[in-house]
Amino acid sequence: MTKILIVDDIDQNLYMLQVLLEGHGYEVVSAGNGVEALEKARTDPPGMIVSDILMPVMDGFTLCREWKKDDQLKRIPFIFYTATYTDPKDEELALSLGAERFIAKPVEPDMFMRMLQEVIEEYEAGRLITPREPVEEETVHFRRYSEALIRKLEDKMVQLEEANRALELDIVERKRVESALSIERDNLVNILNSMEDGVYIVNQQYDIQYVNPVLVKDFGSFEGRKCYEYLHDREEVCPWCKNQDVFAGKTVRWEWYSSKNQRTYDLIDTLLKNPDGSMSKLEIFRDITERKQMEEELIRVNRALLALSECNQAVIRATEESHLLHEICQLIVEVGDYRLAWVGFAEQDEMKTVRPVAQAGFEEGYLDKLGITWADTERGRGPTGIAIRTREPAFSRDILTDPGFSLWRAEAIKRGYASSIALPLTASGRTFGVLNVYAVEPDAFDYKEVKLLMELADDLTYGIMALRTRAEREHAEWTLSERVKELTCLYKVHREMQEQLHIDELCQRIVDHLVPAMQFPEIAVSMIELDNQRFTSERYTEGLSHGLHAEIRLEGETRGHLWVYYVEDRPFSIPEEQEFLNSLTEALGVWLERKRTEEELRASEERFDLAAKGSNDGLWDRDVTTDKEWWSPRYYELLGYEDGEFKVTFEKYKELLHPEDRDRALKAEKDHLEKRVPFDIQYRLLTKSGEYRCFRARAQALWDENDNPIRIAGSIQDVTELVKYRIELESLVQERTSELEDALEDLKDLDRLKTEFLSTAAHELRTPLTSIRGFSEIMLTRELDETRKKRYLTFISQEATQLGDIIDDLLDVSRLEAIRGLALKQEPIDMTKLIDEVLTLFIESSPNHNFQIKCTTELPLMRGDSFRLSQVVKNLLSNAVKFSPKGGTITIRSQVIPGHLEISVQDEGIGMTPEQQVHLFEKFYRADASNTSISGTGLGLAVSKLIVELHGGETWAESEYGVGSTFYVKLPLAEG
Ligand code: ADP
Repeated sequence: MTKILIVDDIDQNLYMLQVLLEGHGYEVVSAGNGVEALEKARTDPPGMIVSDILMPVMDGFTLCREWKKDDQLKRIPFIFYTATYTDPKDEELALSLGAERFIAKPVEPDMFMRMLQEVIEEYEAGRLITPREPVEEETVHFRRYSEALIRKLEDKMVQLEEANRALELDIVERKRVESALSIERDNLVNILNSMEDGVYIVNQQYDIQYVNPVLVKDFGSFEGRKCYEYLHDREEVCPWCKNQDVFAGKTVRWEWYSSKNQRTYDLIDTLLKNPDGSMSKLEIFRDITERKQMEEELIRVNRALLALSECNQAVIRATEESHLLHEICQLIVEVGDYRLAWVGFAEQDEMKTVRPVAQAGFEEGYLDKLGITWADTERGRGPTGIAIRTREPAFSRDILTDPGFSLWRAEAIKRGYASSIALPLTASGRTFGVLNVYAVEPDAFDYKEVKLLMELADDLTYGIMALRTRAEREHAEWTLSERVKELTCLYKVHREMQEQLHIDELCQRIVDHLVPAMQFPEIAVSMIELDNQRFTSERYTEGLSHGLHAEIRLEGETRGHLWVYYVEDRPFSIPEEQEFLNSLTEALGVWLERKRTEEELRASEERFDLAAKGSNDGLWDRDVTTDKEWWSPRYYELLGYEDGEFKVTFEKYKELLHPEDRDRALKAEKDHLEKRVPFDIQYRLLTKSGEYRCFRARAQALWDENDNPIRIAGSIQDVTELVKYRIELESLVQERTSELEDALEDLKDLDRLKTEFLSTAAHELRTPLTSIRGFSEIMLTRELDETRKKRYLTFISQEATQLGDIIDDLLDVSRLEAIRGLALKQEPIDMTKLIDEVLTLFIESSPNHNFQIKCTTELPLMRGDSFRLSQVVKNLLSNAVKFSPKGGTITIRSQVIPGHLEISVQDEGIGMTPEQQVHLFEKFYRADASNTSISGTGLGLAVSKLIVELHGGETWAESEYGVGSTFYVKLPLAEG
C-alpha cells in the first residue's frame, strides 16, 4: 500500500484529500506546512507527496526545492495540488523545481486519482526522471520564486482589503442600528401605551416599572406596588412566578384566570434588556375570556357531534333493534355526558302508553315510576307526550320549576336530573317513539345541541327503520330460500319422474328429497304410503304425531298418503309448506297416471312388436304431421333389404312406388286421410334386385279432435305370385271358355251339318234307290226285251254300287273316328305303284280329262295302311274329276322333302272361294250343298284327312275360284 504524505494548512482540505485517498486504498500521512512535512518524510519516507503552495512556516515551493535536494527524498514523486490563484507561471516554477505534476483545483476526483496513479506507476517502474540539480541558478530561481510569492501575496492582500471593506461597512451599519434601537425603545413605550393587550414591565425585584392603560383599566393604579400585590393580591411572590425562567432568557407563555375580574388571560413573558444593561420582564396580557367560552362550547358541541358520529356508527353496525336502542342510549350518556337517556315507543293501545324500550345512565328505577302516555291528559303533558303529539322536540329547561314536570319532579330531582329534552322519532309522518335525554344542569340544551340531538334522533329513526326493513327483507329472503328449497325438491322429483324409475324407487327418493326441503329439516322426517306399501326417510320412527299430510290421488281416487312429521313441535308453521306437499302429491298422482298409461302403452307396444315380428306382412307407420316414417323389419325384408338398411321417409316410399301406380296409390291415401275412404289397394314397389313386386296395401289413419289426421299405419302383403297365378288362371279359364265356345260352335255346326247330311244323305241314298226302284218296277210290270232288260239291270247295279259307296263312306267315317288313336295296318307300301293303280281306274272312267303324273324322284318305300292311303288318293282324284266338269288336266305330283313324302293333286276345275276353303276338311261339308248336279256326301275329304293324320301326316289345299284346286298330302317317311 502506497503511503501518501499530504500537506496543506487548511484542515478541511487535508480532511477531504485524506478521505479521497483512503477511499482509494492509500495510506495517508498529513502535515500542516513544509517543515512538518519534511520532518515526517525524513523519519518515514512516503511513496508520494501531495502539497499545497501557500502555507505558513514553509510554503510548497520551498518544500519542493528542499525535497528535491534531499538524497533520501528526491526520487519520491512530488505533486502540487492547489487552488490558490494558480497562474501558468506557478506551474512552470513548480515543474522547474522538479515536481512531477502540477494539479490545479478544481479537478474531478476520478481524474485526480488517475493522475496520481500514473505517477505512482511511473515511479514504481523507475521511469521517473531523477531530479537533476536545479538548472537555473539560485538567483534566477529565487527571483522566480519571489515573484510567485509576491504574486500570491498580492492576491491575498486584495482579498484582505475586500474583507476589511466589508468589516467597515458592518461597523457603520451597527452604529446605525444602535441609534435606531434607542429611537425604537422610546417608541416602544408609546406603542405599549396604545396596545389593545395589557402590558406591564417588572424588574427582577418584582417592582412594577410600567403598566399600560389597558391593564390600569382592569387592575387600577400600580404605583409603588409589587407585581404579586398588584395583580394577585398576594403579599409574597406567587408560587407560579415565571420570573426565574424569564430572567434566564426564556420566553414563557401561560394562561391565567383572574378571580379579581373573572377573566382569562393569555400571558407572554419575555426578557427585556435595558440600555443600561439591567434586565426587566415584559408581560403581555391578552384577554381570552370570550374565546375560552367559545372553546368550551365548541368542546360541548364536539362532544355532541362525537355522540352523533358514534351513534351513526352504531346505526350502521346494528343488527338488532333493541340492541341498537340500548347502544344509542349508552352512547348519548357516555359521549354526551348526560345523566340519563331512554327511548320509549308510542303504543297504539287505548291508553296510548309510552313504553320504555331502552335506557342508559343513572336511572335507578325512574322509568318504572313514570306512567307516561302520549294522550292529551295530565300524564301526557310532560315533554315526552308533547313531543309525540307535536312531532317537535319538547323541553323541560328546569325540572325544578317546570310546571309540566310536576308529576315526575320529585323522582327526577332525587336522581339529579335538572333539565330534559324529548325528541320525537318520526318515520313516514308517524311518530312511533321518543328519545329522552336528561342533564344534570338546568337549561343544558342550547340551540346547537338540540339541533344535533334532533339529527341523532333522525338517525336513530333511520337505523330503526333500516333494521325493520332489513328484518322484513331477511324474512322475505328466508321465505324465498324456503321456496327455493321446495322448488329444488320439486325439480329433483320432476327430473326423476323423467327417468324410467319404478314406483317404489321414486317414492323412496321423494321421501328422501323431502326432508331437506322442509322448513326445519333437522327435525323433519317423511313417509309415503302407497298401495299398502310404506316408504320412509332415513330417521323416521314410529309413533310421531306432529305432521303435515297430503293425499296422493289418482283419477279422483285416494291412492296413498304423504306425511311429513316433526320430531318435536315446530316454532310455527306456514301454509306454503302444506301447498308444497300438495303440489308434490299432485305431481306424483299425475306421474302414477302417466306411468300406468305408459305401462299399458308398453304392453300394447309389446303386443304390437310381437305382431309385427310374427306378421308376414310388412308394417309401416307414418306421422302425418312430420312425414316421419317407420317400417317393420319384415317390410324391409319384403323389398329384399336388411332391417333399417336405409332411412325410411315418405319420399323414399314414393320413389319406390311403380310410376304407373304412384298417383293412384297417393290418391287412395289422400282420400283415406281426407275423406276416410277405406284404404285397400294394390301397388307395385321396387325391390333391391330392381324387380317390381306387387303388394296389397291396407292402412288406417288416426285423426285428432279437429278431424286432422295425425298418423297413418298400415301393412303390405306380397301378392306377386298370387297375381301371377290369377292371371294364368284367368287366361286358362279364358282359353277353356273359348274352347268350350268353340266346341259349342262345333256342336252347332255339327248339328247343322247333320241336318244337312241327313237331307243330303237322304237325297244321295234316295237318288240311286229311286233309280233302282223305278228300273225294278219297269222290269216287274213290263215285258221287256233282253237288251232292255240288260240295260236296266246295269243301271240298277250301278246305282246299287253308288248306294253301297255312300254307305261305305258313312261307315268309314264312323269307324275311323271310332278308331282314332288306334294303330292302322303297318305294311310296306310302294306309293308309285299305289298311285298308278288308282290312276288307271280314273283314266278309264274319265275320258274328258287329261291325267299327268309328275314325280321328281323315285318314291321311297313307306309303311302304312295301303288300302286307306289308296282311298285318300282315290278321293282326291275323284274330287278333281268331279269338280272339273269341263275336263282339263289333272296333275298328280309327288316329291320327297326331308323326312316326308308330299303328294299333290291339281285340277283345272271350278275352284273355291277363300271362305269355302275354311271348312273344307270338315265332315259333311260341301262347298255348294245346293248344287245337286255334282253328287257327294261331304265325307271324302274328312275321311282322307283322318287317314293322313292317323299316318302322322297332314293335308291342306290351295284353290282359286274358277281356276282350279290343288290338294296336298304330306306323309312322314319311315325312319331308316
Ligand atoms: P263330295 O265330293 O262327296 O261332296 P268331299 O268330301 O269329297 O265330298 O268334298 C267335299 C266338297 O269339297 C265338295 O262337295 C266340293 O264342294 C269340294 N271339293 C272337293 N274336291 C274339289 C275339287 N277338286 N274342286 C272343287 N271343289 C272340290
